[in-house]
Amino acid sequence: MIMVWLLPLIVIGGLFYPLLGYLVIAMMALLLSLSFFRSRYWCWHLCPRGAFLDIALSKVSAKRPTPKIFTVQWFRWFIFALFMSFLIIRITRTGGNYIAIGAVFVGMCVITTIIAIILGVITKHRGWCMICPMGTFQEKVHKLNHSKTGKKT
Ligand code: SF4
Repeated sequence: MIMVWLLPLIVIGGLFYPLLGYLVIAMMALLLSLSFFRSRYWCWHLCPRGAFLDIALSKVSAKRPTPKIFTVQWFRWFIFALFMSFLIIRITRTGGNYIAIGAVFVGMCVITTIIAIILGVITKHRGWCMICPMGTFQEKVHKLNHSKTGKKT
């Protein structure tokens, strides 16, 4: 919950100051490092968007079941590939301009937040979290670490 303020800072502040997009890169690095040891700890304790969905969307959500396909692995990886491809294509088009790269990450954060709000209203407040590319990736990184060490998850 304490990180929730980072969401408006990035999605609103980032429109005027694109370098705030680098906060998204820093958060991605942090969540992936954490997921190595603690699976989706980031999602439940630190994610600004997750906190926003808990605080705001839980009050207006229709609380309907999410589509069954959200739990299907291939579909979650399809969403992951879709967003990563979109991200990579947009970054390559920046020509290495560091401000434009920041703007790409701000844009991704805005788009995914809009989708998260729509899904949060019409399904469960954390409906987006079932297919969020970063959620899917955290699970995979954690499983890879545990299959290597032989630890139980
Ligand atoms: S699934 Fe994505 S949006 Fe949801 S809490 Fe995790 S990182 Fe944040």
